Amino acid sequence: MASGNSPARLERIEKRERNAKWPNPPMYIDMSECINCDACVRACPPNFGAIFNHGIDVIILPELCSGCDKCLDPCPVDCIYPLAAEDWEPSSVEWWQEPLSENDPYM
Ligand code: SF4
Ligand code: SF4
Repeated sequence: MASGNSPARLERIEKRERNAKWPNPPMYIDMSECINCDACVRACPPNFGAIFNHGIDVIILPELCSGCDKCLDPCPVDCIYPLAAEDWEPSSVEWWQEPLSENDPYM
């Protein structure tokens, strides 16, 4: 896949901070519905690069998710939902192991 490591993405990964100017809320995946097809991973624009395989889960790091909605239509089971601003928490240390790892699909 083409390199998605724009300076802005690298900065978000380094600081672990969402761009405060993004107007839309980040998305999350309901793993009880997800069928692990990876369509959303491929649909997420590389300059955001927010969706990862993490063990048996598919996860969205809210700090990297602009809320652009491009992952919604490709999902065959409609299990990606917006998170209200007050409902998301910082991604865990374990989740931050995925961006820039050898498994980063956006590198
Ligand atoms: S809303 Fe956009 S940035 Fe967020 S995970 Fe979906 S495709 Fe990626
Ligand atoms: S497109 Fe939907 S079903 Fe497929 S991996 Fe992503 S969230 Fe899961």
